[in-house]
Amino acid sequence: NAWTLTRGDLLRTEAFVGGRWVAGERRLAVTNPATGALIAEVADTTAADTRTAIDAAAAAMPAWAATPAKARAAILRRWFDLIMANQEDLARLMTAEQGKPLAESRGEIAYAASFIEWFAEEAKRVYGDVIPAPHGGQRILVLKQPVGVVAAITPWNFPAAMITRKVGPALAAGCGIVVKPAAQTPLSALALAVLAEEAGLPAGLLSIVPTSDARGVGEEMTGNPLVRKLSFTGSTEIGKLLYRQSADTVKKLGLELGGNAPFIVFDDADVDEAVKGAIASKYRNAGQTCVCANRLYVQAGIHDAFVARLADAVRALKVGDGAAPGIEVGPLIEEAAVEKVERHIADATAKGARVVCGGARSALGGTFFEPTLLVGVTAAMAVAQEETFGPLAPVFRFEDEADVIAQANDTRFGLAAYFYARDLARVWRVAEALEYGIVGVNTGLISTEVAPFGGIKESGVGREGSRYGIDDYLEIKYVCMGLN
Ligand code: ADP
Repeated sequence: NAWTLTRGDLLRTEAFVGGRWVAGERRLAVTNPATGALIAEVADTTAADTRTAIDAAAAAMPAWAATPAKARAAILRRWFDLIMANQEDLARLMTAEQGKPLAESRGEIAYAASFIEWFAEEAKRVYGDVIPAPHGGQRILVLKQPVGVVAAITPWNFPAAMITRKVGPALAAGCGIVVKPAAQTPLSALALAVLAEEAGLPAGLLSIVPTSDARGVGEEMTGNPLVRKLSFTGSTEIGKLLYRQSADTVKKLGLELGGNAPFIVFDDADVDEAVKGAIASKYRNAGQTCVCANRLYVQAGIHDAFVARLADAVRALKVGDGAAPGIEVGPLIEEAAVEKVERHIADATAKGARVVCGGARSALGGTFFEPTLLVGVTAAMAVAQEETFGPLAPVFRFEDEADVIAQANDTRFGLAAYFYARDLARVWRVAEALEYGIVGVNTGLISTEVAPFGGIKESGVGREGSRYGIDDYLEIKYVCMGLN
């Protein structure tokens, strides 16, 4: 078995509710998307379990918030060390439940751990202010305090990193947090909790509630007045729903929603570098990331050369079970994901696009799909407006800089954008003109714990990671002190 673990106890099937491992009454099946095989059945928790977890977080929080930051940081640091010490096991679990190639899973575990390390350090740097007062006999102070109990809802495409990106700053700030992982990938979440407990995190501060009742648990999280902040990563549709549901209790919100990333290659680009960047940005995680290039715009002067080289690189990608050595593109998460890619290809070809390579399900069967390249794509096609979330690269040809910027910005989304160019003035012009929260210049990979990740427009609210990432977990309190 390719995912046999060194530490069998990291495959945990109970839910972690208020510091207790609970089996629950019903079970949730977790399957391997590469083989369809059943991996495990985990506890299928309810809205009532979520309420228990929220109560436990609220009860554990005051002592945690009063713990010196240095002591909170030490526990987070131990958790980071334990995640890295068990990187291989965690990566195998992830590939088994999510499908991404083992090399990517190892990378995600390191990326996930980096948020715990980073926020362990940031915990010690939550500074307040002393503001010069306008009147004598007064002092004006600003204190930063934990926002309160946090609820987090996370997706299946990054089963570990989307959790640590929220749990890291929440715990660092002095909050307790309840996490609902995606139903497809609860095992990575539960394994992280095993290690948090081992690191010495006090009971109740972290709960993991896998469930088949996302709606019921979501309603508890948004309706419960004890929850002061909701952090969600997932689809724009569910993000909007949770935004509405949170209105009644006026929660703070962090939303990381869908994208529709443009990837622009100008005539003065280094074509080989642009091809490398396009492969990394588009086909990583089989195209299932919210920062994946969704639309490739290539300037007329280098269009044909770029397409020819990209086609060679796409044909060379190795598709298969992510647990096997050398695999670069795993299966899609489920059948509906494959159908969306098929729909985008059918719509584009019906409107005049041409398939250069791929274009169909893989001979491997299941949810494997051939890495696909389309040319002759236009704004009238569905791929121009919708996020494909699969291994499909649609290429648009363009002539003029102002025109491509207008096209790139012609979307409700604003998460990540990429472009390749060498002219310095153009680099500044385009970086400033793109209406996105993240811009990659001459690179296809932008994620790091030290930089603020987040979108504008309908891609979301707030930033995760970096020194800004802890702000959403803190309230500002102004203290006006009279000295008379
Ligand atoms: P995807 O289509 O990529 O699965 P979703 O937005 O549906 O994206 O899923 C992201 C997360 O949101 C998952 O944890 C999922 O269970 C959760 N979710 C889905 N529907 C709801 C809902 N009505 N309330 C709360 N959470 C939800």
